[in-house]
Amino acid sequence: MGRIVVISTGGTIASRWQGTGFAADADGREVMATAPLPEGTTVEVVDLFRVNSPRLTTAHQLTLLRTVHEVLADPGVDGIVVTHGTDTLEESAFLVDLHHHDERSVVFTGAQLPMGTAEGDGPGNLYDALLTAATTRGLGVLVSFAGRVHAARGTVKTQAVALDAFADPSRELLGKVGFGKVTLLRTPRRPQPLPVPAMPEVPPRVDMVMHHADGDAVLFEAAVAAGARGIVLIGTGAGNATPEIVDAVRAAVERGVLVALTTRVAAGPVTEIYTHGGAVDLVAAGAVPTGTLRAGQARIAVLSALLATDDTAERVRILRESLTPAEREALVEA
Ligand code: ASP
Repeated sequence: MGRIVVISTGGTIASRWQGTGFAADADGREVMATAPLPEGTTVEVVDLFRVNSPRLTTAHQLTLLRTVHEVLADPGVDGIVVTHGTDTLEESAFLVDLHHHDERSVVFTGAQLPMGTAEGDGPGNLYDALLTAATTRGLGVLVSFAGRVHAARGTVKTQAVALDAFADPSRELLGKVGFGKVTLLRTPRRPQPLPVPAMPEVPPRVDMVMHHADGDAVLFEAAVAAGARGIVLIGTGAGNATPEIVDAVRAAVERGVLVALTTRVAAGPVTEIYTHGGAVDLVAAGAVPTGTLRAGQARIAVLSALLATDDTAERVRILRESLTPAEREALVEA
């Protein structure tokens, strides 16, 4: 059915007890040895990293992106599975999706329970991811987890410990895996993919700042002072903050910082409804609303725009175009 390359990066699916807690430890071959292979599938392993995913850096993520492209340069490969920690899986998967130009699927998976756990979810998730990689085409980058298939875009970790850890809270489920087949329930929408960026000597700093009652502009300004080239402002509600934060956004944008606006609410688009520091004023000050992308993925979209060009206006255009037309329409309609 297919020749699949598994890129192993660590996470709980590769974790063992370290005396005080669990940490990524096993290499890719050990991880692969836990799972049965779908019939007719052959697997080659690339042992890339062995880290808990909260420790991943932009350099790790760009290395993963380049590795995916190197693997896909071989026309004999039918698909890729990436085993990854669940904590930042949504970020790495979205980075690969933003730059994915290929019909072949790249399927991310992981586990909530460590290696070797009786009834652990790693082997089943890996089997499903292999099946998904071997049997799907033209869907971009996917996340296969707990019998479900999600588009990378929009999918976030919604459960800290429960096994069904991923969902896109703003959309219907993409598909299911079971009884040896993948059933698709809809077609994911993706914008035009971006070229793969050159490896920067020092990746740009991109920070996130979350607003809350009594929140001021101190942390936002600290991010600018720390050298952030991009900032994701995580507003309340439909993407709101305060007049003081609007001023800080305007000043940052004038200095060439790329500011994205998302929301701390789980589902639905950032929408320009409110003034007095709301999304209406934040967008007027130069923040780019990021539709239904949640903070981690909005940050990756900012990173990709920063890596694409040095031109400030062009970065804004690229960030806007990293939304799908439907995501952009949601901003206008609401
Ligand atoms: N700490 C783990 C990580 O590497 C969690 C997991 O993989 O589920 O993200």
